[in-house]
Amino acid sequence: MINFNVPPYTGKEMEYIRQCVENQKICGDGSFTKKCNEWIEHKTDTAKCLMTTSCTHALELAALLAEIKPGDEVILPAYTFVSTADAFVLRGAVPVFVDIRPDTMNIDENLIEAAITDKTKAIAPVHYAGVSCEMDKIMEIAEKYHLTVIEDAAQGIMSSYKGHALGTIGDFGAFSFHETKNFSMGEGGALLIRDEKHIEDAEIIREKGTNRSKFFRGQIDKYTWVNFGSSYLPSEMNVAYLYAQLEIADEITDHRLDCWNRYYERLKPLADAGKIELPVVPEGCVHNAHMFYIKAADLEQRSAFIQFMKENGIMCVFHYIPLHTAPAGLKYGRFHGEDKYTTKESERLVRLPMFYKLTLEQVDHICDKVIEFFKG
Ligand SMILES: *Cc1c(COP(=O)(O)O)cnc(C)c1O
Repeated sequence: MINFNVPPYTGKEMEYIRQCVENQKICGDGSFTKKCNEWIEHKTDTAKCLMTTSCTHALELAALLAEIKPGDEVILPAYTFVSTADAFVLRGAVPVFVDIRPDTMNIDENLIEAAITDKTKAIAPVHYAGVSCEMDKIMEIAEKYHLTVIEDAAQGIMSSYKGHALGTIGDFGAFSFHETKNFSMGEGGALLIRDEKHIEDAEIIREKGTNRSKFFRGQIDKYTWVNFGSSYLPSEMNVAYLYAQLEIADEITDHRLDCWNRYYERLKPLADAGKIELPVVPEGCVHNAHMFYIKAADLEQRSAFIQFMKENGIMCVFHYIPLHTAPAGLKYGRFHGEDKYTTKESERLVRLPMFYKLTLEQVDHICDKVIEFFKG
């Protein structure tokens, strides 16, 4: 059987976790957290990275830093994971969903401006499959209307747009290190901060509203409660697990790209014959092979395909019920404009197995089965 996902494991994780335990340093912000922060800051070239307990929490932290208030509106794609909306709903804001582009499944940058009202405070683009949104256009709109940009780059570590790492273009960016992502710590994430002016506030909110980070750096002689806050720092043991993967991040990414490219080459003839559609990576976007998906003709064909693959021992999945059609989406948000592609494309998309230890032989076998189904 070929699973849809296998969590990344490089072999060094247990040794690093053992070090935490033996050094009696298992709570947050120890040496592995420092190493991960610095690794990400260096790799993405951003002012600050703060490890968090999840991408969801990194987005919540960003919503607090952006001072999102009850009644504010935040523009985001209708096709995304719930966390993109939750972070703002928790602040009392209204998520305003707009349609996606059928080629990348990302927010249609040309529909954003029409969704802006005098209540709009932020735009939250989501880089689906680690392929960037049209950030030049989004940043231009944000500047014109003085909006904060919070990038949901949950799937976007190691990807870039015109040479800039995803998560570093907007005011804030959020990575996920969930078990299903390219690099993992079980549950975890990171907040990326572009402007230094936000660093101190972010450190305080992340540490229960205290100035403990400053205290640890020796900048003050005691720490105290200085603002509202929560606890968004992960345990050292989780971060130690992640660090083993960051050390070989290029190798992991290259391997995923090899699998992605093999899928693409092998399935291209099916796409050329009009039987399926393949992912599109626009010019200027470098992606991280977070996922490989295909699109069937419609919902019915997709269901039959998933069943056929399952019978052949290959687990394929779909995801994201468009948020504006979900119970909470109906309750808290609204859709602006016409749902031309979100629902239609979401019903056609299916993800094929993709993980670090997937072999090219397995990819070939999966492709054989995909071809068998769509030719039949
Ligand atoms: C995985 C994911 C999240 C949530 O990440 P967690 O680390 O599980 O909180 C948010 N947004 C998108 C687009 C994701 O893919």
